[in-house]
Amino acid sequence: MTEPAIDQVPVAASAPRRHRVVIIGSGFGGLFAAQRLAKADVDVTLIARTGHHLFQPLLYQVATGILSVGEIAPPTRLILRDQKNATVVLGDVNQIDVAAKRIHADAGHIGFDIEYDSLIVAAGANQSYFGNDHFERWAPGMKTVDDALELRSRILGCFEQAEVIDDEEERKRLLTFVIVGAGPTGVEMAGQVAELAQHTLKDSFRRIDPATARVILLDAAPAVLPPFGNKLGNAARVRLEQMGVEIQLNAMVTNVDYNGIEVKDPDGSVRRIAASCKIWSAGVQASPLGRMLTDQTDAETDRAGRVLVNKDLSLPGHPEIFVVGDMMSLDNLPGVAQVAIQGGKYAAKQIINEVEKGGSSAQRPPFKYFDKGSMATVSRYSAVVKMGKIEISGFIAWVMWLIVHLAYLIGFKNRVTTMFSWGMHMGGEHRSQLTSTKQWVYARQALEQVAAERSKVDSSSAPQPSGSPSVTPAEAGRTN
Ligand SMILES: Cc1cc2nc3c(=O)[nH]c(=O)nc-3n(C[C@H](O)[C@H](O)[C@H](O)COP(=O)(O)OP(=O)(O)OC[C@H]3O[C@@H](n4cnc5c(N)ncnc54)[C@H](O)[C@@H]3O)c2cc1C
Repeated sequence: MTEPAIDQVPVAASAPRRHRVVIIGSGFGGLFAAQRLAKADVDVTLIARTGHHLFQPLLYQVATGILSVGEIAPPTRLILRDQKNATVVLGDVNQIDVAAKRIHADAGHIGFDIEYDSLIVAAGANQSYFGNDHFERWAPGMKTVDDALELRSRILGCFEQAEVIDDEEERKRLLTFVIVGAGPTGVEMAGQVAELAQHTLKDSFRRIDPATARVILLDAAPAVLPPFGNKLGNAARVRLEQMGVEIQLNAMVTNVDYNGIEVKDPDGSVRRIAASCKIWSAGVQASPLGRMLTDQTDAETDRAGRVLVNKDLSLPGHPEIFVVGDMMSLDNLPGVAQVAIQGGKYAAKQIINEVEKGGSSAQRPPFKYFDKGSMATVSRYSAVVKMGKIEISGFIAWVMWLIVHLAYLIGFKNRVTTMFSWGMHMGGEHRSQLTSTKQWVYARQALEQVAAERSKVDSSSAPQPSGSPSVTPAEAGRTN
């Protein structure tokens, strides 16, 4: 039995008729935009497909058992609880009607519309498999809480299976971990999987020695951490090799399946690496909402699906629509948290100027990005930091990384518990979040099956009236 659908979110419809700002996404861009509007004379509706604000830079620590999900993904509703002009709505936006200034979203089988006067779109990016989406089943990426929990269970599951298997070749396959993509996420994952195998799991198995696990970091590019330059890339590479990580560069992945991964080397030869656990951290594709916007306006997208925005982050001919963060393309700015944070705050500030001070969109100053530098950890006590011309690697860089990441975590309590978890980990290599379940490993396949069955049912039934139950992108694959 299905419940009646609603056409309009009551909160938005019944709110006093002030200027209505709708924000899509509760990541860095969306959340900081909402908070910047806290004292403004506007009504803010923040809608996202997840109920939390995810601190993506620490996802790899959830995947490798250092931090809990709650520490890096607090509920958005609670973060904005005291911001009286803000309403948080859980929903998957699947239509933006630019002419009608309205979005449509689904929360499970309930469809609803929300109207806006200003729209900030901060829906981020997904993992890109460069046209080979079928790789995802065997090599999950790391973009969501679900991804991190699935990867944690896959990694730990490989050690468990290796402990009980007699076949030597299969044991080697189970103890081979391949990470595709030598950017910051790949480097961080490779370092952590190696530490997990060599330190945390030491002496806890009876038939296998976890330290014999092979950790391979491979990339089609010729360098590790290309955006950090040669010096820091080499420092990260040397540190990883000291930890026993095998680095394979100029290696192009041509296939991924249950048994392993197929790689093409520069001389054109193709080889296989037998590996049970494959992790994908190469490439991103902007949210499909970008294309939805460009289909209705004069804006265009780049190859990664990012929207080419005006200097004020708005769309040509639509000053009321801002696109910020990983979804937007401007002056080759990187897809990092600071670009999203500063973009979200900038968009909010323009709205305040125009609503409260009578400013006009034609007078907006261009968005200026202030580069605060980039950083990545390689292992415990070792990181790389690039701030303009300053390049630091090793322990000092790691301390800087620690301070910055603590500062940007949302909520005092989360900072305290994260500090405690890090303290335990540093002191005794302890990881308190090594729980793993079968469900976390197989949920993706179950969701795909449910989505396929539901779409079969939908396509065989008569056209549904507007606002009636439909399969949402979330149901079709992900809920996080
Ligand atoms: C593993 C990892 C590590 C990273 N490490 C670093 C780092 O160390 N330093 C750094 O600066 N950056 C790092 N980044 C990049 C950084 O996290 C992103 O640049 C930043 O999160 C972008 O913010 P955003 O607001 O554009 O998108 P996101 O933070 O991705 O937020 C997107 C939001 O939109 C919502 N959403 C998406 N589609 C829909 C829809 N259809 N309907 C409703 N809601 C939707 C999502 O649920 C989410 O709330 C990392 C990213 C990853 C994945």
